[in-house]
Amino acid sequence: MTATSTPGKKRRNLQSDRKARVHQLYSSDDVIKLYEISRNTLTNWIADGLSFIDAEPRLFRGSDLNAFHGRRRDKAAGYPLGQFLVNCFACKRSHSLLDGEISISPGRTGGIFRVSRTCPDTGARANRYVCSKELETLQRLREANPGLQTPD
Ligand SMILES: [Zn+2]
Repeated sequence: MTATSTPGKKRRNLQSDRKARVHQLYSSDDVIKLYEISRNTLTNWIADGLSFIDAEPRLFRGSDLNAFHGRRRDKAAGYPLGQFLVNCFACKRSHSLLDGEISISPGRTGGIFRVSRTCPDTGARANRYVCSKELETLQRLREANPGLQTPD
């Protein structure tokens, strides 16, 4: 712990991950109004991974907006997305626990859970152990983005 704080650190402007209506489509102007942000900020969000529908004009899904802000909040809270990647020994790649089919079972130690992700290529199961807090975050992220669960 040092007395001097990090002056170069960018202040994160965290937004609610429940502000947008999940089933609503938003135009750029709607998004700017909803979050009271500048056009620049919206551009930054897109660069930072906010998904949009590539239409003319560009549209944003409420569920994507909420998921984006949920991810940012979790990142700020020390939950990088990589936390929810699981190494798959069957195909030697990694899969995200945030999409696809997962199953959750209690681990041997209290408060620890085993999350199994079915490998899309081989059908094998890749396991990852998480604590209850991580599990909560994982489930919240999955809920925030129901679009991820439909494979198409
Ligand atoms: Zn795999």
